[in-house]
Amino acid sequence: MSKSKSWKQTIRVADLVDNQKLEVSCKKCGHSTYLTKAMICTAEEREMLFIDELEHETICKARGCGGKVRIAMVRLDELSGFIGGLA
Ligand SMILES: [Zn+2]
Repeated sequence: MSKSKSWKQTIRVADLVDNQKLEVSCKKCGHSTYLTKAMICTAEEREMLFIDELEHETICKARGCGGKVRIAMVRLDELSGFIGGLA
């Protein structure tokens, strides 16, 4: 066990800004997809999940796979073209 906590153990879903995206990649088949805070928070209590816990309970959505996934934070500045367009 590592002593230092990763960001996944210190950041909760609730801490994410609304336009933050998380990249979810399957360790088994390589399928990757994106999650937004709204997609994660299908129930109110899911906001309290640490990213680490979210990663553990998320499985690959690819047909017939169901593999474990790795979650990565997508840098917000890569998305800057999408910010500010909503009234
Ligand atoms: Zn997969």
